Amino acid sequence: MDSVTFLGTGGGRFVLLTQRRFSGGLWLELDGVRFILDPGPGALVRALQFGKDPGRLDCVLASHKHLDHYNDVEVMVEAMTHGLNRRKGLLAVHEGVVEYISDYHWNSVETIVVSEGGSFEVGDVHVDAIPTVNHVGGVGFRFACSRGVVTYSGDTGYDKRVVRHYGGSRVLVLNTIFASGTRSPTHLNTDDAVEIASQAKPELLIINHFGVRMLREGPEKEAERITEEAGVRVVASADGMTVDLEDLSIMGQGGI
Ligand SMILES: [Zn+2]
Repeated sequence: MDSVTFLGTGGGRFVLLTQRRFSGGLWLELDGVRFILDPGPGALVRALQFGKDPGRLDCVLASHKHLDHYNDVEVMVEAMTHGLNRRKGLLAVHEGVVEYISDYHWNSVETIVVSEGGSFEVGDVHVDAIPTVNHVGGVGFRFACSRGVVTYSGDTGYDKRVVRHYGGSRVLVLNTIFASGTRSPTHLNTDDAVEIASQAKPELLIINHFGVRMLREGPEKEAERITEEAGVRVVASADGMTVDLEDLSIMGQGGI
């Protein structure tokens, strides 16, 4: 099944450290290719918990050098290569992440150093690295497969230049750490998500990567507000939630 599963939906250090929301990143299955994207702390545990087999991974991706996005990269490389015994799969990380990966792991797989504007193929899936702004330096990813385009914003501030890269998405996952009214140049809030939804018009917008204050406000309530204001279907991510890319139906939305 072509799908996107959320192995973690938390953002910010306090949510990470309490595991109030998990931090395992996203698991994508597109045209038979399995990706883990931004495997933060606990990604291996969450993958197993949600019935995913990391031994069948084809690609490990990390968007930037923050712990909640790259912590379990080496663990996932070991799983993908069956304990580094088989040279299989691809490791694709933003240039800022490279120094955090041991030589031992780096030399055990095919690697790609990703920067804004770059692209590569994994099986039949075309992956573009798209820009982010005002954050630590990093990228988002845009996956083009037979089911359409799935776009992941990565951590970014709001900028029209970035939003252009979200156009034509069937599914757009936006790392929306803050609720409405909490302004930050480095991360998106719900007001930014309304702007982005209005411009990019994805078939399904998923807000994700929630901070403490966002969780207090209620991501589901914020998602409803974006739908009302932008006229786009919006869902708040939940740990263990899966989106079926055939019909964009959602399983496990109630969380665990
Ligand atoms: Zn983050």
